[in-house]
Amino acid sequence: MKNKKIKKHGKNLKKFWKLGMEEFNTQFFDINQNGELVVKEGYYQYNIMDIVKKYGTATRIFFPSILENRVRDLIELFNAYIKILNYKGKFYYHYVMKSNQNRDFVLPAIAEGAHIEVSSVNELFLVKRMLEQDKFNRKIRVTCNGPKTEKYISLIEELREKGLIVIPIIENHHELERFKKFKGEVGIRVNLSIKIDAHWDKKYNHFGFAEEEILKIEKIRNLSVLHYHISTQNEKIEGFVKPLKRAIALYSKLKQYNPSLDTINFGGGMAVPYEKRKRLFSTKNLVHQMIKTAKRESDKLGIKHPNLVCEWGSYFTAPSQITVFKILYEKSVFKKPDTKWYFIDGSFIAHLTDTWSAVRQKWHFTTVNHLNARRLQKVWLAGSTCDADDRYTASGSYILLPKFTEDVSDLYLAVFDTGSYQDTFENNHCLISKPAIVICQNGVVRLSRKRQTPEEIGKLFGWNGDHTK
Ligand SMILES: *Cc1c(COP(=O)(O)O)cnc(C)c1O
Repeated sequence: MKNKKIKKHGKNLKKFWKLGMEEFNTQFFDINQNGELVVKEGYYQYNIMDIVKKYGTATRIFFPSILENRVRDLIELFNAYIKILNYKGKFYYHYVMKSNQNRDFVLPAIAEGAHIEVSSVNELFLVKRMLEQDKFNRKIRVTCNGPKTEKYISLIEELREKGLIVIPIIENHHELERFKKFKGEVGIRVNLSIKIDAHWDKKYNHFGFAEEEILKIEKIRNLSVLHYHISTQNEKIEGFVKPLKRAIALYSKLKQYNPSLDTINFGGGMAVPYEKRKRLFSTKNLVHQMIKTAKRESDKLGIKHPNLVCEWGSYFTAPSQITVFKILYEKSVFKKPDTKWYFIDGSFIAHLTDTWSAVRQKWHFTTVNHLNARRLQKVWLAGSTCDADDRYTASGSYILLPKFTEDVSDLYLAVFDTGSYQDTFENNHCLISKPAIVICQNGVVRLSRKRQTPEEIGKLFGWNGDHTK
């Protein structure tokens, strides 16, 4: 009887904290008997409090198994619908380096069958390193996006000479001219004349060519890929299906001059359920709709089904990492008696910088311990830089967290979905240290990056320990 009660209570707790729910990407997160956050890897589980005790805060904790699962699931899903719908093109998933360039992220993705997408010469340099160390099979495909400097172009040419399949995606007339003699496949980026309902659909886009411009170019040497990238945090199926339809129409026109064209790259932009409030569409349904559309539209136009390339970034990387902070203390909110400030030993400006992007100001929070606390408190969070903007008020609403009481005197905060972009957006505002990075893999917990020390930060600003210089 008692056991049954605990079980029931436990189930509600999980639901309350939005854990263990696949639609919110928290299916691997659970609460143990002591009310502490645990993360499952198969039948193994990591206790986050143990990690906090050993490595302190602020710390990013990365779970490669979550990333691997997501990569494997998506590749399988596309291949399953390709088979079911008798689609003749192939599917390629490219890991988006800019969403997280840490070696600990990139290698597991490649090991699950991801190809690579880079956005700069320095990301491509890391690919060169892997190539020199013979770290991947030569069948891997590397797409190169972004405006290209001369150094970037030279490195693309160098890697192509070394036998790597490296595909520059041409952004403008300068690059078109520059890649005229390129021996390998090239792609071209189109800025589709289409509006979709998403955060980042800009009227004036500085990437790629307009449709009319591409059609004027007609013949492009070794053209194999038509690339577009519509938006980010795209929360509607229509936002994927509509552009795909439009791209296939353009593809079929381009193919008349460029018979080597065989691939459509639909870029990134897949939504992540950061807020864990409303349920987004299912990936399964989306993939089904996309393959169905690609098949129907190309059959209508009488063209061979194009290969499909996916460059979703945050969809894979965001849910595979959490960031933990200690809650230092509470403070009353003046003239708002029902709400308290909880100060963290980290920063929204320095460590969760995306809080300020137009796209994504919301995060999901739980604590790492005392998740079974009986009393909860309405909270606003404050970072520990001296900046008036370093706070998170859920847009003037509140966050519910355990209340500080006699029994609850230490609290640690977990922020979910921090695995994409935050690591490179990170900064040293007020010379606050960058967090440590801890990796949990195959039951082993290891430190991947130490928390920045005062000496290291000082050096970055020219303080080399010799005060006379
Ligand atoms: C940033 C980017 C992506 C990944 O975007 P997400 O929103 O993280 O999925 C994919 N392709 C290109 C060209 C990009 O610039």
